[in-house]
Amino acid sequence: MSAHILIVEDEEKLARFTELELLHEGYAVQKAFDGRSALEEALKNEYDLILLDIMLPGLNGMEVLRRLRQEKNTPVILLTARDSVMDKVAGLDAGAVDYITKPFAIEELLARIRVCLKFRAPSAADRPAAEEEGILQWGSLRLDDTRKTVRWDGQEIILTNREFLMLKTLLENKDVVLSRETLLDRVCGYDYVGETNIVDVYVRHLRSKIDEVYGVKMLQTVRGVGYVIRSE
Ligand code: CA
Repeated sequence: MSAHILIVEDEEKLARFTELELLHEGYAVQKAFDGRSALEEALKNEYDLILLDIMLPGLNGMEVLRRLRQEKNTPVILLTARDSVMDKVAGLDAGAVDYITKPFAIEELLARIRVCLKFRAPSAADRPAAEEEGILQWGSLRLDDTRKTVRWDGQEIILTNREFLMLKTLLENKDVVLSRETLLDRVCGYDYVGETNIVDVYVRHLRSKIDEVYGVKMLQTVRGVGYVIRSE
């Protein structure tokens, strides 16, 4: 059965565009154009995911999320305006699983939706045995988030904190192309003020410590979009 997604967006053109893209991907889609009807629909129906704009007439997105959370745990991805750092933090605190900054590339939104739906009901049965608590793997690479170590076939790779965070973020989002801006937020913190090309610098460091040493192409550049680590 296809996943059922509610789009909450008062800009009707954007809502319509997003709807068409999601329908094209095979999702079942419903739209709401204001906070109150969104909350009503979200409480009445069982959605697999809600895309929730923050700036809405009537009830804003944060309030919708807050009230929804009193009743149920439907996964929510927030649509935030650029630079609204507080919204992002508050949104994640209020129980959103992710956020995406407007204007967004539709590919990034689709990738985030796939990730979100993939993790909606992780059953122990379909999780690989090697996937232990806090362990992320790619080929012979093993990142242990509890011990903060990265090893290749048992051999330790020494990374700085930010290189480690960057690698972890990419491994946690395998097959999702992450924009420089997203990586910057995750690696340097929401309040970092500076150039996004610092991300390219960390990618270069990681490549020289991993890809070049072990002769692999783990960290891939997606031109004009960002970076991705794909499943082997
Ligand atoms: Ca809006």
